[in-house]
Amino acid sequence: MNRACMHVDGRTQCFAVWGHPIGHTFSPMIHELFIKECGDNMAYLAFDVAPDALQDALRGAWAMGFGGINLTIPHKERVIPYLVGLDPLARKVGAVNTLKRTEEGFYGYNTDVYGMQSQLRTNGIYLEGQDVVILGAGGAAKSALCVCQMEGARSVAIYNRTYDRAAELIRHYEEVSRGETLPNMRAVKYEELLRMPHPYVIQTTPAGMLGVADLLPIPEALFYDSILYGADVVFNPKDTPFLEKVRAHGGKGADGLSMLYYQAQKAFEIWKQISFSEEASERMRAQFLEWAEDYFHA
Ligand code: NAP
Repeated sequence: MNRACMHVDGRTQCFAVWGHPIGHTFSPMIHELFIKECGDNMAYLAFDVAPDALQDALRGAWAMGFGGINLTIPHKERVIPYLVGLDPLARKVGAVNTLKRTEEGFYGYNTDVYGMQSQLRTNGIYLEGQDVVILGAGGAAKSALCVCQMEGARSVAIYNRTYDRAAELIRHYEEVSRGETLPNMRAVKYEELLRMPHPYVIQTTPAGMLGVADLLPIPEALFYDSILYGADVVFNPKDTPFLEKVRAHGGKGADGLSMLYYQAQKAFEIWKQISFSEEASERMRAQFLEWAEDYFHA
C-alpha cells in the first residue's frame, strides 16, 4: 500500500479517529484506501483525546468543519450526551463509534454491529438458530448481543469476570428491546460456562491484545474443545491466543481485523452517503489485510 501521496490543500475536509490512547489505531490506513478509491479531497487523522477533553474537542472539531469522527476506547458511551441525535441502532446498543457532522452538531451512529456481522458472515459463521457464548460484558459485548439478535441466535450466554456486569447488560438489553424477538439470554458463572456446550463463541474482552497481561480470556484448555466457531474482536495481534487455541482444538477462527475493516467501511459510507460495490470492498479489504500482515511482521 503506497502511503506517500496524501494530498492536502485549503479545501481538504478533515475526518479523524479519537481515542485515549490512540497510538495503536489502524483506522487511518483503512480510511486512506477509501479516500483514494473515491478520489475526494479528504484527510483522516488520529488524535489522542483525553476523556475530560471530549466535549471541548467536539466543539472545536465542529467549529473547524470536521466532516466526521470515529470514536474508540474510552469515548463510545460518554460521548452520547454531547450529540444532537442518535441513530436507532446506536441508541439501542448504547455505544457510538461514528459521528457525522450536521448543521446543529454531531449525530451518532454505531457501525461496530455491522462490522461484527460482516466479520462473521465473511468467515462463514451464521448464528441463526445457534447457541452462542459471549465473553465479556463491555461495549463490544453490547454490539455482539445485538448481532446475535439480528442474526436470529437461539440463545446467548454471557460470561464476564464481573458477573453483575453481564447480568446488567442483559437486563438493559431486554429493556431497550421490549416487544422484539430476542434470543434466550442469561449471564453465566465460570463453572457453568465450562460445563455447558458452547459451539459458537464471540470473544469481546481485551485479553490477548498487545500489551494486555492476560493472554486468554478463559485459561482452561477444555473450554476450547467444544468450540466450532470462535470470533475475536481483538485485532492486534491478528492471530490472538484465543483464536490459536480455537484452531488448535479443531474449531474455525475469525479475526478482529475484518470487523475493524467493515466498521470503518460503514462509517465512510455514512459520511459520504455512498455504498462501495462488493468488488471494491473486498479489494480494499485485501489491501488492508496485506498492509496489516506487513505491519505485524515488520
Ligand atoms: P470495555 O467496555 O472496557 O469492556 C471490556 C470487557 O472485557 C469487560 O467486560 C471486562 O470485564 C472484560 N475484560 C477486560 N480485561 C479482561 C481480561 N484481562 N480478562 C478477561 N476479561 C477482561 O471494552 P470494549 O469497548 O468492549 O473493547 C473490548 C475490546 O474490543 C478491545 O480490545 C477493543 O480494542 C476491541 N474492539 C475491537 C473492535 C474491532 O473493530 N475489531 C471494535 C470494538 C472494540 P470487567 O467488567 O470485569 O471489567
